[in-house]
Amino acid sequence: MYALARCSLPRRAVGLLSPVNAVHGTFTRSRLLSTLAILEQRDGQLNQGSLNAFAAAKQLGGTVHGFVAGSNVSAAAQEAAKVEGVEQIIKGLPETYAPLLVENIKKGKYTHVVAGHTAFGKNLLPRVAALLDCQQISDITAIENDKTFVRPIYAGNAIATVESSDSVKVITIRSTAFAAVTPGSGSAAVVDGVDPKADPSAEWVSEDLAKSDRPDLGTASKVVSGGRGLKSKDDFDKVMLPLADALGAAVGASRAAVDSGYADNSLQVGQTGKVVAPELYMAVGISGAIQHLAGMKDSKVIAAINKDADAPIFQVADVGLVGDLFEKVPELTEKLKSS
Ligand SMILES: Cc1cc2nc3c(=O)[nH]c(=O)nc-3n(C[C@H](O)[C@H](O)[C@H](O)COP(=O)(O)OP(=O)(O)OC[C@H]3O[C@@H](n4cnc5c(N)ncnc54)[C@H](O)[C@@H]3O)c2cc1C
Repeated sequence: MYALARCSLPRRAVGLLSPVNAVHGTFTRSRLLSTLAILEQRDGQLNQGSLNAFAAAKQLGGTVHGFVAGSNVSAAAQEAAKVEGVEQIIKGLPETYAPLLVENIKKGKYTHVVAGHTAFGKNLLPRVAALLDCQQISDITAIENDKTFVRPIYAGNAIATVESSDSVKVITIRSTAFAAVTPGSGSAAVVDGVDPKADPSAEWVSEDLAKSDRPDLGTASKVVSGGRGLKSKDDFDKVMLPLADALGAAVGASRAAVDSGYADNSLQVGQTGKVVAPELYMAVGISGAIQHLAGMKDSKVIAAINKDADAPIFQVADVGLVGDLFEKVPELTEKLKSS
């Protein structure tokens, strides 16, 4: 169970009120803590976002182990083993991921389980929490101590501080709030996990992933996002893609652009899309609805191009250009290419 302890207002959404401070370093009870960080991998490649889960696990203090499952996991496990301060990497098979994880959590007597708040983490950890009879603690942005966590609620309009009295804290983290660790000279042991061999109740049929040569939206240092102002998919591609290439940026989109078919829904930024916090976020033809801001307001520099000087996006933008995007963006792209 967790209880709502405190509520405060976040930084950009409603002016400048202090967010709850994260506690850096370890906690006094750290000797009693042990955290299992759940790592994502694809074809033996560790998902870079997993390294944020390690960062949160290390911030909790105590022993940190990593857990990775799937086919061809050995390469990903060896990569994870290089993270300094991690003692052990447990690998296992994917078919029955939640029961598999639960068996390993029970065996390792972990006090905390941490995963990224990604499609993978959001799918898996609530199942794990249910099987452990614990309450899931979602999308945390800071750790106050080993049982108190900070998380945005109401699309980021309020910040809740929650305290959990569950024996195992099952947590997903907002990756933009925890700087990723880099695999270095660590040498964690890679061990085989317990495999309960539960009968799978679902069968894997296939997956259809959006592929792109551009940087990944979730981890890119620059993002250019287009909105309904782009008017059509052809115009979205004609205006936004050259801008993204000139900047070496990932492409994002508002929900209106996605719903209108201008961009793939894997590119949606916002409350019901991805949460990003790049060095530069450029919003083109996006009005700045609160649900969009929930996904990008923590970006370091926000730039906006909109023909409406009163568009709400300008209230959060560090740099704004009022004008017709069909004129301004190609002009900017040409300047970037020739600089
Ligand atoms: C439960 C819920 C969840 C939601 N989740 C999300 C989410 O995750 N992400 C998200 O983005 N939205 C989300 N929304 C939708 C959100 O409320 C807005 O409807 C959406 O963000 C609007 O997208 P937009 O800014 O592209 O379109 P609009 O609001 O229509 O804005 C278009 C902008 O383009 C400008 N423009 C038009 N033509 C030009 C031009 N030629 N040159 C320059 N500027 C121009 C206009 O001035 C305007 O500001 C959600 C809504 C709900 C209710």
